[in-house]
Amino acid sequence: MAFSDLTGQKSIKSRLASAVSEKRSGTFMFTGPIGSGRHAFAEEFAKALMCSDPGTDGACGKCDCCKYFGAGTTPDIMRVYKPSETKNVKVSFIKESVVPEAVLRPQFSKTKVFILDLDYLGTESQNALLKSLEEPPAHVVFILLSSNRDMVLDTVISRATEIKLEPYTNDEIIEIVKKNVPECPAQTLTIAAANSGGVPGKAIEIAKQGEDTDLKREVADMFLDLPEATYFKILNDDAAFMADRKADAVAVACNILLLIDDLMRLKGVPGYKNISFADHRTRLEKLAGSSKVDNVRLGKCAGAVKDFLKALDVNANFDAASCAMLLKIHEELNK
Ligand SMILES: [Zn+2]
Repeated sequence: MAFSDLTGQKSIKSRLASAVSEKRSGTFMFTGPIGSGRHAFAEEFAKALMCSDPGTDGACGKCDCCKYFGAGTTPDIMRVYKPSETKNVKVSFIKESVVPEAVLRPQFSKTKVFILDLDYLGTESQNALLKSLEEPPAHVVFILLSSNRDMVLDTVISRATEIKLEPYTNDEIIEIVKKNVPECPAQTLTIAAANSGGVPGKAIEIAKQGEDTDLKREVADMFLDLPEATYFKILNDDAAFMADRKADAVAVACNILLLIDDLMRLKGVPGYKNISFADHRTRLEKLAGSSKVDNVRLGKCAGAVKDFLKALDVNANFDAASCAMLLKIHEELNK
């Protein structure tokens, strides 16, 4: 692995390469939403800092340091991530393990690296680190990660060189999802990328949830009943289904978009082969063949799903948002 193995973030890669060649001590902070690649970039940066012969593309991948790094056996890196038992890392761990360790020189590599996820470091822990962050000894680098800059002390921010991950392009998102979910069908890939907000982790999540076949079947059954459903059924049974599946709401929405996509394809090319919901072909074809269904109405249905996804992003009332979406689809397909 080298910087070029990571997708996107061109300017960050060149900044990291010059940081590797210029200095081997200091504090860096990667900021960006969850799923934006902070951990992947931090690991690759750490590897390059520890490498005996790094180049413009980061670590050489051949030296002993790189080999030990790859095998997970180097003593010169400490990672402080999400603890398994407590919400946050204990302050005593920072004071007794991280701070004393930071004054020691690396044993083996060129640089000693600490990667700390600030999302799990409370105010007291961040305070306990201040002195170490301010004057790290030569050959010591701190790499901090944060998905929420507002939770980071100003005194920490002022001591760090901030590296902000930028939103990824559609093509970059698709490339990353393909690497992580190789079996993902093309239609799901397109929808995952379009609804990811430029965050690859979110697109991967949507693509993986698309593989839940039980969910797919349940969503298809509900959706295909919608045109003929009574208001009573929609506001009771269907709303209850949405509430039960609240944790998978993005996947539910993604599946509805795929169903609408199937209808559009069947409407355009009767008998179209490559639909996402092949198990529901008969009912989809019947609906697509109905005079009630046309592309304008299907477009409005897709708009309702996108409004629902937007509502999820801003934490709007879930029941209200899901009922609004279901009723809109019912109205459009029942005219
Ligand atoms: Zn190397």
